[in-house]
Amino acid sequence: MDRLDRAPGQFRNFQKDDFEADWIKVAKCKSGEVYQVKVKLWRENCALKTFDTTLKIIEEVSSIAKLKFKYIIPIYGMCSEVTALVMEYMSNGSLNNLLTSHSLMWPKKFQMIHETSLGMNFLHSMKPPLLHLNLKTSNILVDDHLHIKISDFGLIHWEEGMNKTLFMERLAARGNISYIPPETFTHSPDPPGTTFDVYSFGIVMWEILTQQKPYAGCSVTTVLLQVSQGKRPCVTMIPDQRPPECEQMISIMKQCWDDDHRKRSPFSDFVKQTEALSEVFKVPGPIHSGKNGDADQKANYPWLFSSVKKITNTEMSVCPSDGQYDKEAILSM
Ligand code: ATP
Ligand code: MG
Repeated sequence: MDRLDRAPGQFRNFQKDDFEADWIKVAKCKSGEVYQVKVKLWRENCALKTFDTTLKIIEEVSSIAKLKFKYIIPIYGMCSEVTALVMEYMSNGSLNNLLTSHSLMWPKKFQMIHETSLGMNFLHSMKPPLLHLNLKTSNILVDDHLHIKISDFGLIHWEEGMNKTLFMERLAARGNISYIPPETFTHSPDPPGTTFDVYSFGIVMWEILTQQKPYAGCSVTTVLLQVSQGKRPCVTMIPDQRPPECEQMISIMKQCWDDDHRKRSPFSDFVKQTEALSEVFKVPGPIHSGKNGDADQKANYPWLFSSVKKITNTEMSVCPSDGQYDKEAILSM
């Protein structure tokens, strides 16, 4: 029997030789590298994410790999020869990149927010809830059809008796400071719970709605201090020309990043709302061509034709890049 020809659902340990020789490097990050690799037997591209530390990852991954849901990334197995995780390859990369390279139309923004809340709701519906603790736009991946899947869940843990400062530093070292709720900064924080992820989701919502980076240009210390004092990314950066339903999205977002973690609603409480909001833009009834055919459709329902538009260099120049923002403007509510 071939090594990959396993019983359904069985966790696989790939060998380097299971992949074609040409590995394409997709990204290099603090914790390792991501490659696009082709599995010889399956004739299909996969993503291979290496870890530079020998985490006690195998036992963890083998259990999270069993999770299957439309909005979470399928994990196919490990390649222990290179300490790597093998998962579905998402052709459109991360939402983080998409938000800077393309201008998203409101229906697509609402849909992505909703799909992320569905993925998170699924993880939190586990018993006990599976905490992500690393939810950010680079861990939301985008497929060929611009649907999202959440990745890198369940890899960060709060261990009993863990040094709390170390936990914080570990998160901050990943460049995650914007996504960490303020209660984590206190001297003796409680172990993180589901409300940690809800807070991170609030920041992700802001990024989707504004297509900007939170606290751009601010140092880690500034973010830490200001967020502890109740400041959050600036809501006025959400474009004025927005659908009226956006106000409800903003209110969910603010609730998600509330200072008081007990006031942050669980995903199960607001998935129905994000569902309703994402359905607002669905075309009512069957789609018929008007007498002008596609032209009519395009005028009435532009998102049917293009839900994302590549940002050109000229357009990019009007969006301030990292470091060019007025810090006060970013941090005031
Ligand atoms: P962290 O290690 O905290 O998750 P990160 O998400 O920034 O940090 P990686 O997980 O290594 O770093 O991912 C880096 C980039 O690699 C992502 O932003 C994305 O562009 C790309 N990437 C990761 N996984 C996949 C995948 N399954 N398919 C396609 N591209 C991927
Ligand atoms: Mg990641």
